[in-house]
Amino acid sequence: MEVVAATNNQHKLEEIRAILKDIGYEVLSLDDVGIKIDIEENGTTFRENALIKAREIWRLTGKASIADDSGLEVFALNGEPGVYSARYAGVEGNEKDKANNKKLLQNMKDIPENKRQARFVSAIAFIFSDGKEIITEGYINGAIGHEEKGDNGFGYDPLFIIDGLDKTMAELTSEEKNKISHRANALEKLKKELIQSASQNTNK
Ligand code: IMP
Repeated sequence: MEVVAATNNQHKLEEIRAILKDIGYEVLSLDDVGIKIDIEENGTTFRENALIKAREIWRLTGKASIADDSGLEVFALNGEPGVYSARYAGVEGNEKDKANNKKLLQNMKDIPENKRQARFVSAIAFIFSDGKEIITEGYINGAIGHEEKGDNGFGYDPLFIIDGLDKTMAELTSEEKNKISHRANALEKLKKELIQSASQNTNK
């Protein structure tokens, strides 16, 4: 079965591909189906944004589609940067991650050690070719450090110290990260729902 991933992010595409491969899905990129689009994410939650992206690609292709929307929630900042994670510092392009991390550290400079808890959230929306929708959410808990550590990953990874490990997300290899990340967690939940839905269809 084919499913089109509503993302221009190669990192997300590979992760989705790896996890859905073993249940028989071939994950196509937007390039594979000849679509060049930057979908406006104007929802107020990760779920809404994931649905906006997946619905647009389903509408354009008529094929099953899948989209992820993700970000960082810092509890002491009332869930900021949240759905604004990518645009937090208002900078685009190569300098975006650096600027976002700098702004986060600045906004947290007076927050003490025991109040720096945060989590990464990923919402995954999957739409079957007949329009039926599944949404799942995954999380990973941690705390925000006082300086960047590690060279792997992207986004807020160098500041995010994983609960139970004395390491930031950027100090993990991509294989290690892809086993425990918020996105892996949401995709595993989706995988279970897809398996369940396939067995219900064969029992009909
Ligand atoms: P999206 O591509 O619109 O879902 O935006 C996601 C933003 O959230 C990214 O630009 C990062 O700032 C942040 N983010 C999401 N997932 C991760 C992750 O795995 N590590 C670090 N930052 C992430």
